[in-house]
Amino acid sequence: MEKHSELYGPQAQTVLQSLANTLERVLSEAVDDFYDKLIQLEAAKRMLDILSCDERLSLKTQQARNLRFLADPALTEHMHRETALHVGRVHAMVGLDKEDLVRSRSVLIGAIQSRVDMSMHGAAIAILGRRLTMDLAYQIESYETLQLARQHALLQITEFAWSAENYTDLIQRCGRVLVELVEVAACAIGRPDAEGTLRFEAAYGQGAEHYLAALSSKEEYRISIHESEPSGRGPTGRSWRSGKPERIRNMQTDPDVERWQRLARDEGIRSSVAIPIRTPGHFPVAILSLYNRLPGGFCGANQRAFVDLLQTLLGFAAARVQAAEGVGRPIPYGQRQRWVSLIRTDALQMHYQPILDLITGSVSKVEVLARLHDMGRVLTPGDFFSVLSTDDFFAIFARGIKQALAQRNRWLNAGFDIGIAINLPSFALGDERYLQATEAALREFACPPQRLTLEVLETERVPAGLEGRDEFGKFKALGILFAEDDLGSGHSSLARLRDLPFDLVKIDRAIVGDAGADATSSLRFVYHLTRLGHSLGKSVIAEGVEDADMLHALRLLGVDLAQGYGIAQPMRGDQLLAWLRGRDRAISPQPHDAPLVQLARRLLWEERVHLNVTQPSCTAGQPAVSEDTASVSTGGTALTDDSGRPM
Ligand code: C2E
Ligand code: CA
Ligand code: CA
Repeated sequence: MEKHSELYGPQAQTVLQSLANTLERVLSEAVDDFYDKLIQLEAAKRMLDILSCDERLSLKTQQARNLRFLADPALTEHMHRETALHVGRVHAMVGLDKEDLVRSRSVLIGAIQSRVDMSMHGAAIAILGRRLTMDLAYQIESYETLQLARQHALLQITEFAWSAENYTDLIQRCGRVLVELVEVAACAIGRPDAEGTLRFEAAYGQGAEHYLAALSSKEEYRISIHESEPSGRGPTGRSWRSGKPERIRNMQTDPDVERWQRLARDEGIRSSVAIPIRTPGHFPVAILSLYNRLPGGFCGANQRAFVDLLQTLLGFAAARVQAAEGVGRPIPYGQRQRWVSLIRTDALQMHYQPILDLITGSVSKVEVLARLHDMGRVLTPGDFFSVLSTDDFFAIFARGIKQALAQRNRWLNAGFDIGIAINLPSFALGDERYLQATEAALREFACPPQRLTLEVLETERVPAGLEGRDEFGKFKALGILFAEDDLGSGHSSLARLRDLPFDLVKIDRAIVGDAGADATSSLRFVYHLTRLGHSLGKSVIAEGVEDADMLHALRLLGVDLAQGYGIAQPMRGDQLLAWLRGRDRAISPQPHDAPLVQLARRLLWEERVHLNVTQPSCTAGQPAVSEDTASVSTGGTALTDDSGRPM
C-alpha cells in the first residue's frame, strides 16, 4: 500500500489528467524561464556557466522530461522515489548544494504556476507541487547517502594513514577506497620524474588504466609540473605548484585542458580535481587525481570539505611512510604492474649468500635474498621493493621459502646440510598467513625447524611487550629461530632486543662496513654489541664483511658468524653448490699484522686493562689477552684462535 495515496492514487490520476495538455503547451517556456531565474542565484550561475551550449540544451530537455514525469497521472510512489534518488545522486555528484536544490524547487513551481490558469488547474498544480516536495526529500536522501559514503571512506583512510607499511601500500589502499565512491569514476596517483613529467603509479576505476596508458605513452598528452610548458597548466601542474587542490569543472569547456579534451571525452571523463599530497609548509610528494563522469569538479560544499580532509590525511600519511622508509623515485604505473605480476612467476629467483661460522669455519647457513629477472636484468630489492604492497611481500615470502627449502634439499642430497635464513617483513608477525606458509613449507620439504631462521628487521612496528612475545611465540612454537636484522641501524631498540625472543642478532653492515672510515670506533662498537648479544644469550652475526682482515678482526672480537662480499656474494642455488665444493681448496693467508687485526687485539687488551683496573677481583686469575696469532680462512679450514674468548 502506497503511503501517499492522495499523490499517486486513482484520485490524483483523474485530477492530473486535465493538466496534461496545458502542461505540454507551457512546458518549454516554463523551463526557459526557470533557467533564466536560476542563473540569478550565484551558486547556480557558477554551475550553469561551465556548461557548453549543447550541455545546457540537454539539461533543459532533461528538466522538461522530469516535469512531464512528475506530472504523469500514472506515476507510482515507487517509480518516483527511484527516479528522484537517481536525480539526487547526480545533483550531489555535480556539486549542487542542498540549499540551491531547495531554492530551485520554488523557482520551478513558480515558473509553472505563472503560466497556467490556477482556477482550472489549482488542484493539479497542488499535487504537482507536493510531488516536487517529495522529490526534494528523496533527492536529499541521496545527498545523505553520498555524504555517509564519503565519511566512511575518510574513516578507512584515517585507519591506514596510521598503518600503511610503505608508499605503495598507502596509494593502493587509498585508490581502492576512493574508487568505491559513486562520484569518483576513476582515480590516479603519481609523482613527477626528474624532468618534471608526471608518472602515474596507481590507477583505479573503469577505463583508468586505458586513460593513463594514453597519458603516459603519447607525447601530446604528457603532463608536466612546469608552468612554462602548456602541459603544465592543467590542474596537476597547477596543484603541484600551488600546493592546493585544483579543479577542472568541465573538461569540455576549460581552455586549460584543451590538449586532453578528446582523450577525456573518449573515456567519459568530464571533470576532475588534482589534490597535492603534502603536509602544511612542505612541498607535495605526490598528486592524487579524482575523475568524475559528470561536470562539477568536486566543487560542492561537502565535496570541498571531503577533498580538504583527504588532503590533510594523506599528507600526514605520506609524511609518516616517508620518514619510515623514504618514497624512492617515481616508478611508472606500467612498470609497477609488470613487476607486481612478475613476482608471482619464475622471474622471482631467490639468491643465497653464505653465512660463515667463525668457530668451525664451515658455512652453517645462507641468507635468502630476493631477485627479480626482468628483460635480461636481475633486479635487487633496492630496485623493485618500493612498488610492492603488503600482499606482494607475502607472495615473495610464500614463494621464497618454498624455493629455498627445495634448494636446501638439493644441497642436502649433495652432502651439505645448510640452514636457511629468510627475511620476514616486520609487519608479518601479526599476519597469520606467514605463520601458515612457514608451517606448510617446513612440512612439505621435511625441514627440521631449527634449520630455519626468520630474520626480522626490528622496527617500532614489531609489537613489543606481551603482545610482541605472543606474536613471536606462535612462530617459536614451530621450533624455528629468530634473528634481529640490522642491529645498530636506525631502526633497532635495545629495550626490545632485551625483551623479544631473538636467538641471533645481526650487526648492521653500516657498522661493520664503516671500519674504513673510523676503524677504532666501529670495531669498539662491534665488540660491545657482541658482548651485549652474548650477555643476553644470543649468537652474533656480522654483516657486510668485505675483506679477510675484517673477518679475522671480528673473530678476535668474539663474533660468532659472518656474512659479506668478503666471503661470497649472493648467488643462485646451483652456483652455491659449486662454490661450496670449490672452497675446500681455497686457503686464505693469515694476516698477523693486518691493521684491523692489530686494532682488534689492542681493543681487547684495553678492555682487559680497563676491567682489571675497575674490577680487579672479578678478573683475578684470568689470563691476559694473548698476542698469539689468529687464523681464519674464508676457504673452509677450521679456525684456530686464542683471543681469550671462551670457545
Ligand atoms: P638485508 O637483510 O640486510 O640483506 C643483506 C643485504 O646486504 C643484501 O642486499 C646483500 O646483497 C647485501 N650485502 C651482503 N654482503 C654485503 C657486503 O659485504 N657489502 C655490502 N655493501 N652489502 C652486502 P639485497 O639482497 O639487495 O637486499 C637488501 C634488503 O632487502 C635486505 O637487507 C632485506 O632487508 C631485503 N630483502 C632481501 N630479500 C628479501 C626477501 O625475500 N623478503 C623480504 N621481506 N626482504 C628481503
Ligand atoms: Ca636480512
Ligand atoms: Ca641485514
